[in-house]
Amino acid sequence: MIPYEEPDYMKSAFNCPYCNAFSHHIWNKVTVYSMGDSSKNVPIGYTAYCNHCKQYSLWYDKKMIIPSSGNAPLPNNDLSEDIKKDFEEARSIVNSSPRGAVALLRLCIQKLCKDLGEEGVNINEDISNMVKKGLPIKIQKSLDIVRVIGNNAVHPGLLDIKDDQETANKLFHLINLIVDVMIPQPKEIDKIYDNLPKKDKEAINKRNNK
Ligand SMILES: [Zn+2]
Repeated sequence: MIPYEEPDYMKSAFNCPYCNAFSHHIWNKVTVYSMGDSSKNVPIGYTAYCNHCKQYSLWYDKKMIIPSSGNAPLPNNDLSEDIKKDFEEARSIVNSSPRGAVALLRLCIQKLCKDLGEEGVNINEDISNMVKKGLPIKIQKSLDIVRVIGNNAVHPGLLDIKDDQETANKLFHLINLIVDVMIPQPKEIDKIYDNLPKKDKEAINKRNNK
């Protein structure tokens, strides 16, 4: 998993919301002329300039308002194009509607379960099936977090995430983590394992079938 440093007000370096690179940011005050006194400049916010992609994010009241994706990370490259679209849509609304974003992220894991070989109809059952097949516990928990919070976003529940960008942002990271563990990592391990000497692999099979 690539380390990710969340953008934060006045932080000098973080992962850029446009290019995702960990880069140095230069902060500049944004001012407007005062009404009635054009000699006076009134500060209204800040811009943070990314040294890598040369784009500006706009901050108001210590919060990033442009781009609207705010602190939500970019989708993991190993996600399917279809899920990436939902993920991006969730990013585009997370600042104005964390609840809507979380509902879309729930849809992302529903589709992801299908990509992982399950039916993709009932997430609860899909997770249960994957647990039986040896799903790592941290992945089961991550899937359940997105499922439960997503359910609470669309049905009347005990969790109120109407204005909770922070929780919504965490779910984006969890999805990226799930994908990382479930898609590229097993492939990489299989590739290395396949290259072990035949004799050793036979001995391992024998041991495992004891
Ligand atoms: Zn950038």
